[in-house]
Amino acid sequence: MTDEYLSLLADLVRIPSISNAHESVQQSAEAFSDVLRAHGCDDVEILGNGAVYGCRHVARDKPVVLVYGHHDVQPVGRPEAWISPPFEPEIRDGRMYGRGTCDDKGGILAYIAATRLSRDCNVKFLIEGEEEIGSPTLGALLEEHRELLRCDYAVLCDTPNFATGVPSITYRLRGNVVIDVEVRCLERPAHSGKFGGVAPDAVQRLVSLLASIELPAEPDESIDLPFDEQAFRHDVGVLPDAELPSRPYERMWATPSLTITGIEATPVAQAGNQINAVVRARLSLRSVRGDEGRLVLEQLAQPMVSARVISHADPWKADRAHPLFEAARRALQRGFGTPPVMTGSGGSIGFVPPFASLLGDTPLLLTGVQDPPCNAHSENESLHLGDWEKAMHSGACLFDELARLS
Ligand SMILES: [Zn+2]
Repeated sequence: MTDEYLSLLADLVRIPSISNAHESVQQSAEAFSDVLRAHGCDDVEILGNGAVYGCRHVARDKPVVLVYGHHDVQPVGRPEAWISPPFEPEIRDGRMYGRGTCDDKGGILAYIAATRLSRDCNVKFLIEGEEEIGSPTLGALLEEHRELLRCDYAVLCDTPNFATGVPSITYRLRGNVVIDVEVRCLERPAHSGKFGGVAPDAVQRLVSLLASIELPAEPDESIDLPFDEQAFRHDVGVLPDAELPSRPYERMWATPSLTITGIEATPVAQAGNQINAVVRARLSLRSVRGDEGRLVLEQLAQPMVSARVISHADPWKADRAHPLFEAARRALQRGFGTPPVMTGSGGSIGFVPPFASLLGDTPLLLTGVQDPPCNAHSENESLHLGDWEKAMHSGACLFDELARLS
């Protein structure tokens, strides 16, 4: 079976479906439509903006699973940094290299292949063509095709695994509230010698105000995964003198954080002996409960301070008590021969909130085929072929487990 899928994936990767390259995305959508038809899907159609739909019906009394993935890809980055060209897939040391191999053509193809191995569920596929530019029309598309996409369970197969060979279920994401804040204390800059200490200083006020902001923390003791500090320092570029906090995964996934992503005052090169009259900053508030934006705005409500929300994405958390997760755990264990780990993500994912609102109480299952060395979004993206085959079997096991649940 693998040889057939290796050449199928290679053919799909040869189509340079970078999100904004409409012709290639369309060509890729048609190629995926053919793949779905070849796997017994009926009513295959392109719903718009490169989003492909198809359903493999087996029986009315079987559960309906909606599987989401995407076939658009990131731009290639620096072409000279690729060892083999991004759209000429090559296999080296058990990995297939090429743009889109793991993110997400291989991810969705694993579940398509799984329909050959199992006839336990009716499987609807939605393969998007705009994921890498933030799924701008996905919400409207899900709304428009609400009936067509009706399902008992949804599997979103585009999230990373904790380690090679270790399957993972992503069960929580932080949200992001972007806030602009401005502090204005003087009509014009003032002499720091003559007036310093008495005339209010906008920059001083901003930094002490931001340093005083308190965010609610609700520890998540269930997060207990081994942390490789050396690898983290290397990957993130943390300098040797910088200390890291304890329980880093809990901090990144389950604790709110406030980052000043931009600040405007007098640039150093133009600084004189003057007190700044005004200062502006942009904040990125990573939220966990969902009310942190309001709490920060309340604390910023001070004289001479104005603040406003520029954009906002809600946090998301799955109900891990739902039987779906036990079924998924069993399926991944069967497919990989290793129990899966439950992971979070500090960032938000554009396609999750539209699915969460489409499905209401139906839980979402986030899982995928990307392992840490896969370089998704960077040069030399690759897919671990051993994990890929295990993902196909896990997919089939998942259909089996879901059929038993119902
Ligand atoms: Zn992706």
